[in-house]
Amino acid sequence: MTEFRYTSYAQEIIFGPGALARLSEAVDRFGWRRLMLCTTGSARRGGRVAQIEAALGARLAATYDRVQPHVPDSQVAEALALAVEREVDAVIGLGGGSPIGMAKALALALEEERAGRPARAASPTDQPLIPVVAIPTTYAGSEMTAVYGVTHHEGGSSRKVTVADPKIAPKLVIYDPELTLDLPPELTASTGVNALAHCIEALYSITRHPLSTAAAIRGVRHIVSALPRCFANGNDLGARSEMLMGAHLAGASLASVAMGLHHGLCHILGGTAGVPHGVANSIILPHAMRFNASATAPQPPTQGWGLQAAEAMGIALNGRSAEAAVEAAAQKVYELVGHMNLPQHLRDAGVKEADRPRLAQLAFQSRTVQNNPKPITDPAQVEALLRAAW
Ligand code: NAD
Repeated sequence: MTEFRYTSYAQEIIFGPGALARLSEAVDRFGWRRLMLCTTGSARRGGRVAQIEAALGARLAATYDRVQPHVPDSQVAEALALAVEREVDAVIGLGGGSPIGMAKALALALEEERAGRPARAASPTDQPLIPVVAIPTTYAGSEMTAVYGVTHHEGGSSRKVTVADPKIAPKLVIYDPELTLDLPPELTASTGVNALAHCIEALYSITRHPLSTAAAIRGVRHIVSALPRCFANGNDLGARSEMLMGAHLAGASLASVAMGLHHGLCHILGGTAGVPHGVANSIILPHAMRFNASATAPQPPTQGWGLQAAEAMGIALNGRSAEAAVEAAAQKVYELVGHMNLPQHLRDAGVKEADRPRLAQLAFQSRTVQNNPKPITDPAQVEALLRAAW
């Protein structure tokens, strides 16, 4: 790796058990006075909305607590109307990738509404009019990135559109492992595998750089160690803390490099076939790893990623070739997914066999899929993977 280039963002990260108690002080330091909370019903039922209300008092100007998975465009419009009415100056996303994605979409939409012109950043250092605060309660990683997805529904079909803009990288991220203690085993497992997928795709990314690789290797180590313990006992605060640290490192690596086939395909499976994001990740990851076992993108070379991944997973290398290391690592992921009772096949996740060619075609058109280190020149390559994952 002799040349690299990436964008990083000015973000304040607060990590630790009980870190939510520092929200109020941070909000004052940033000078925000009228915040809007975007979250889900489960956060209200779990008492987390009450915690934010108690922390912010009158500074919490609005709450939108019914964000649905994959963020439907109609909900962004609803939330925008509320934000305009309440004269909001910052948006909090509390929960998984969906409410955090909603917060990002809303922040950009509100800036456009207020400024009366397009809000998209002209340079990576442009600052937002409406900043985003992210408080993750899953391991999906959206809190670190300048990307969101919104699902557009039109004429009976739906398509998830991804927007990338430096302005929406959350300015304040609060990681409190205590907020993850009630994350159910299935979501612990599936969003944990999503975090693992960020690290794996960062390792073979065509735009990887020394910091993303370091974060990804360390992320794999923490996730593989902590995820089975979180799954076995959700109340193990030590395991939850280590897993959230792994998710943070995964999110940090995801934020600064191009993802590939795995992420592009999972977005299609979510937006078009309705497969929950973490479940799509769990099924596809071993197959995407095998597909990229022989990735030989010349700049930078990717041949070593399998050895890095396998070693970080605690697999004895014993002189294995890079491709044999990928196979061992992919098998380990497959077994981890099975151990946590997640679906291992697309047919078990509601995907129809007849939809495979259309899904492959859509994936082939995805920019993210086209950033894969092993070139994808024909939709048939994706269809073959979907068949293997069937
Ligand atoms: P999600 O946000 O859709 O949440 C899934 C479910 O988990 C919801 O029902 C929610 O209420 C529940 N939940 C969340 N935290 C909980 C807790 N602590 N206890 C109990 N229930 C809880 O799912 P996700 O997997 O976190 O995120 C997936 C979405 O995020 C997808 O749309 C994906 O595309 C997006 N994503 C975006 C990025 C990015 O960089 N922009 C990164 C990762 C994922």
